[in-house]
Amino acid sequence: MPEAVLQQAKEEILDWQGSGMSVMEMSHRGKEFMSIAETAEQDLRELLSIPDNYKVLFLQGGASAQFAMAPMNLLRGKNKADYINTGAWSKKAIVEAGRYCEVNVAATSEAEKFSTVPEQSTWHLSSDAAYLHYTPNETIGGVEFPFIPETGDIPLVADMSSTILSRPLDVSKYGVIYAGAQKNIGPAGLTIVIVRDDLIGETLPGTPAMFDYKIHADTGSMYNTPPTYGWYLAGLVFKWLKTQGGLQGIAEINQRKADKLYNAIDQSDFYANPVDPACRSWMNVPFTLANPDLDKIFLEQAAEQGLVTLKGHRSVGGMRASIYNAMPEEGVDALISFMAEFERKNG
Ligand SMILES: *Cc1c(COP(=O)(O)O)cnc(C)c1O
Repeated sequence: MPEAVLQQAKEEILDWQGSGMSVMEMSHRGKEFMSIAETAEQDLRELLSIPDNYKVLFLQGGASAQFAMAPMNLLRGKNKADYINTGAWSKKAIVEAGRYCEVNVAATSEAEKFSTVPEQSTWHLSSDAAYLHYTPNETIGGVEFPFIPETGDIPLVADMSSTILSRPLDVSKYGVIYAGAQKNIGPAGLTIVIVRDDLIGETLPGTPAMFDYKIHADTGSMYNTPPTYGWYLAGLVFKWLKTQGGLQGIAEINQRKADKLYNAIDQSDFYANPVDPACRSWMNVPFTLANPDLDKIFLEQAAEQGLVTLKGHRSVGGMRASIYNAMPEEGVDALISFMAEFERKNG
């Protein structure tokens, strides 16, 4: 979370703008919360230039619930979907979709240990797929697509949990974009779905109301009580992004942060990043130490400098610096200095 947003939330926590209530105490249908909700949606629409024929939903259940909601809503009479497998999150989406339809894995980088993105010319897309699903940024592997897949009339579905709002995006290329909030939007508990309106309204038989995009769209995400406090905090983050120059502004900062860190890793024999340079994530930078016996002491000494949550995902080990929008450039500079110092002492 950007510090400025947490400061504002702190100031408003007992009394939101003279209402005498905390946002947590408001009725989600009251005029105060309605204004918070509408402003947040408006600001997100502006930031991403979301076309009018797209609905924006503020849901719960995380990106993991979307792994099921996507097929439940998007199969629309078909029985097949194409998926691209570029890592741990793609795999989970594939397993979940397999409960509802035939899944064609049109391309996978598993043989390359998920260190790259297969070129589209090598994919085996199906002409009868209901949609193509991919993961533009694989959070654990630190692999990001350097292109948007071309699917013609077949709707493109993207799990953007760890890259949404990191740079400008052409929403019109997508059928559905979804993201758990906790990486680049706000606190855990909120999930944002951006869906083209012609794709909703034809769910699989037996789909629960809570999993139906149309029900959420028709009720302004208030079919039941939405995650109000997360929605409010997301709204503050959207306002903050506008002060950073919008997505163009934050993109410049993000690119600079990532370039610096990859340069520092590439220039040293002590640290390494395994990802194809063309597909390196701006948000998640995994790296290993030449001597993994030093991992533990690296993490301990980093923590002493206030550099925390650097442990790599338990499935891959090593280190991972997640440098989302809210991580200031000085934070990346501090990490790079610490890494150089640690190498001097231990290299
Ligand atoms: C974190 C993450 C998820 C899981 O999100 P939940 O909100 O915990 O369900 C899914 N996909 C990607 C790309 C992620 O980064």
